[in-house]
Amino acid sequence: PPREAVNYFGAGPAPLPTPVLEAASKALLNYEDMGIGIAEMSHRSPQANQILADTKAALATLLDIPDDYDILFTQSGGSGQFSAVVFHMVSIWVERARQSMEKQWANDDTMKNASEHERTQALKSIINTTMKLNYLVTGSWSLKASQEAARLIGQEHVSIASDSRTLRDGKFGGIAQESDWHLRHPVSTGVLPELRTPALTWMCDNETVDGVEFPAFPKTLEANDGDAMVVADMSSNFLSRKVDVRKYAVIFGGAQKNIGTTGITIIILRKSLLPPQAQMASPTLLRQLGLPVGPIVLDWPTIAKNNSLYNTLPILDVWIAGQVMQRLVNTYGDKKIVGQEEISNQKAGALYGALDAYPQIYNVVPDKSVRSRMNICLRIKGGDADAEKKFLAGAEERLLLGLKGHRSVGGIRISNYNAVSVQGVEKLVKYLNDFASG
Ligand code: PLP
Repeated sequence: PPREAVNYFGAGPAPLPTPVLEAASKALLNYEDMGIGIAEMSHRSPQANQILADTKAALATLLDIPDDYDILFTQSGGSGQFSAVVFHMVSIWVERARQSMEKQWANDDTMKNASEHERTQALKSIINTTMKLNYLVTGSWSLKASQEAARLIGQEHVSIASDSRTLRDGKFGGIAQESDWHLRHPVSTGVLPELRTPALTWMCDNETVDGVEFPAFPKTLEANDGDAMVVADMSSNFLSRKVDVRKYAVIFGGAQKNIGTTGITIIILRKSLLPPQAQMASPTLLRQLGLPVGPIVLDWPTIAKNNSLYNTLPILDVWIAGQVMQRLVNTYGDKKIVGQEEISNQKAGALYGALDAYPQIYNVVPDKSVRSRMNICLRIKGGDADAEKKFLAGAEERLLLGLKGHRSVGGIRISNYNAVSVQGVEKLVKYLNDFASG
């Protein structure tokens, strides 16, 4: 079928606005009349630098990104950041610990004269007992991120502040009350105040597989004395609502769902987490402490220092992301991302409204208070395999595609990314009504 006949609700890569793809196909052949295509030109050319600058500017406009934040692009994938975040935040925390302890030891008769080896061993034992990375496990992706942290630095440093599976017999679908979270701040006597903050607090803003989204920034993390160092995975709801960037140490997401094509990951991070403001533990120290040294292509300071061009960056993907962002800027003007947020909410509201109208047919999986606006997960007649098959087949006949749930959970998933049109949602709502009453 032709592109315009299809409505695709897949979980990503998401469909892109057709005019962007039409412009991209021209740019692939001949970019700005250079006589060569965008995917063929050097990532170090002036044109590529301009594309990077324009894309950053459009993103900064949409999300009101303050000047004390940097924007990086990498090829890592969202999953690559599960590791990069750990390497970086641990390195900062360890260096802070080393400097604090050195200061304290300067006044300590025993430690003042200790050998370097003895000092490293003393630092190691302090780090072993105090360094914690908090993870809010609210679905499959934050679970994976926490598992990667444990694989890299050891389970003893990973503190699961909340595991939503305990709410529902081992299944995801809710988020525990904030008062039930166990955020670890290793406040104990003998620990210097500067070591009482966690190395990071991880949240996945929108859980793509399980259809769970944080309704707002958690109050507990806002009220945290000291800094919770919040790292948010926004891979599947990036640019779908307003975010107060200042509340986060790091925000990241793969481009392939709401921003552009597969191939780049965008990171927004506080400049105070980068040199010269931040200091990192040296690779030698990390090795001595038994902690991992990350690969250079994931190293944020290296990427930042090189304006995201330390190694080859797929400029075509950056350009496409920039075009999508510029369209949002042009479409919503002063409203910026709030314009998109209103549409996202309206589409999600229409879909949930249709589902809720037939509770005997459709069972939305997650709790009402944490339903994702981006990934709408449901079962049909409590997970009746025949009914779900029939639903998918009927949808396919109407060219409503991509509705099968993730293989790990089954059921139906309607992804409502930015490029899903209001008309597409209306068609799907009509089908939901027809299927339920037919
Ligand atoms: N985080 C979330 C919330 C995701 O939905 C995904 C992919 O679907 C990822 C991380 C992993 O991204 P990638 O496949 O780019 O590594």
